[in-house]
Amino acid sequence: PPFRTIHRSFAAQAEQQPDKALFELPDGREITYRETARTVRRIAARLVADGVTPGDRVAAQVDKSPEAIALYLATLQIGGVFLPLNTAYTGAEMEYFIGDAGPRVLVCSPGRQADHAHRAGADLVVETLGTKGDGTLLDGDGQYDQVVDSAADDPAAILYTSGTTGRSKGAVLTHGNLASNCQALLDSWQFTAEDRLVHALPIFHVHGLFVAANMTLAAGASMYFLPKFDVDTVVDLLPRATVLMGVPTFYTRLLQHDRLTPQSCAATRLFVSGSAPLLASDHQAFEARTGHAILERYGMTETGMNTTNPYEGGPRKPGTVGKPLPGTEIRVVDEKTGAALPDGEVGSIEVRGPNVFAGYWQMPEKTAAEFREDGFFITGDLGRIDEDGYLCIVGRGKDLVISGGYNVYPKEIEELLDAHPAVLESAVIGVPHPDFGETVVAVVVPAPGQEPREAELLDFIAGDLARFKHPRAVRVVEALPRNVMGKVQKAELRKQYAELFVNSDA
Ligand code: ATP
Ligand code: MG
Repeated sequence: PPFRTIHRSFAAQAEQQPDKALFELPDGREITYRETARTVRRIAARLVADGVTPGDRVAAQVDKSPEAIALYLATLQIGGVFLPLNTAYTGAEMEYFIGDAGPRVLVCSPGRQADHAHRAGADLVVETLGTKGDGTLLDGDGQYDQVVDSAADDPAAILYTSGTTGRSKGAVLTHGNLASNCQALLDSWQFTAEDRLVHALPIFHVHGLFVAANMTLAAGASMYFLPKFDVDTVVDLLPRATVLMGVPTFYTRLLQHDRLTPQSCAATRLFVSGSAPLLASDHQAFEARTGHAILERYGMTETGMNTTNPYEGGPRKPGTVGKPLPGTEIRVVDEKTGAALPDGEVGSIEVRGPNVFAGYWQMPEKTAAEFREDGFFITGDLGRIDEDGYLCIVGRGKDLVISGGYNVYPKEIEELLDAHPAVLESAVIGVPHPDFGETVVAVVVPAPGQEPREAELLDFIAGDLARFKHPRAVRVVEALPRNVMGKVQKAELRKQYAELFVNSDA
């Protein structure tokens, strides 16, 4: 039988339970598997008419909607390579992505400028994903039925990384990557057709598309499909939902809501957090408040999901991201030599398995540099394996501070600062220093109405930190620079404070 792509899993569900609601929208509208399958075939007809053939990229900068998911499935059906783009990207960024990826078709939401497509000099068709009947991708009544027999190692998507540490890179993901990771997650979290997921994540990112949406489509489940995370809406939906997949800020905001109670979460069997570190204090507060231990997991654009805390059969340990998914191997090694490290020591987190991507789009050298000879992918994250075999992420390699020859992990200092009542959040970075090579600088955002003082903060954390980890300066700012995925851009901060202790012109 042909390889079971995500599209084929979806099509099988649409055949078995056509009348089941796949999407439930905020206005109460329900869209069934059958209707979705029709939309998929209609879009496929149009894409084929636009000249898309297997291997061609279909770029999409579209608002979150059921039709956007249908566009993704239609692209897979005809063997195209889906290329979702962040809706926050503007002209120059779009020009870069289009120039880089060379799509055959670019699909935009109505009203979105597509001029950049032409400025990028690309020879492509521009389509709009609007409502049926207004000259858009959804027009026409063609129903394209043919399904391309994609193989496990054929590319299914190019997904650009979040651009937290530099320019976004296009990760080429195969049908095998998507399908195997999806299956491993279904098994790990016992996700089935009975589940009703709250989907409040963007769909241009690995988390919302290749975790949350793929799982729903393959399992034949339903999702409450929200344009964005709105805490009131989510609290209202929880009594009818079985699973929430979110990022840490979802939980911070839920905890601030007075209607979050054990009763409001009684129907929900699983709360998941990923994409960024979950505060251990939020984990504990959430459990105390609702009786649910949040399940934290770890993934990335290049690999989909790597590890998860247990759904059953073991504790969910705050401050850890759990153990490898079935089929995936994780190791922690010396960053320079690649030599194995004993458990407990911090090193480079590396991953191998059917979830690991095929390589960076048109970057063979970068790809080669990020893989070891034995096939392990170097994630760029640093971590250690704890006494129970759980992985703890201590930060990104690029954010490590080396001061006077000593390693300083910013996260350790950030956690202490964040515990101060006058601090809302913090970011710790290394900046050049004439004596130490680098030294530690803390950038903090005050809690509402607070004015944290440098001396007071240093006093607060000093007792828990060796001298070489003490920040040499604390800067209070209104907000931390974040990229469009909401991740703190430390490279920006490092640039900003580069001359605090040295004059680079000197
Ligand atoms: P870029 O690679 O362009 O700099 P990015 O790494 O932020 O951006 P993503 O692929 O969206 O792009 O994010 C993956 C990264 O997010 C991981 O490498 C890791 O650093 C971080 N991450 C994901 N889940 C967790 C988690 N549970 N705890 C801590 N960090 C996490
Ligand atoms: Mg990355």
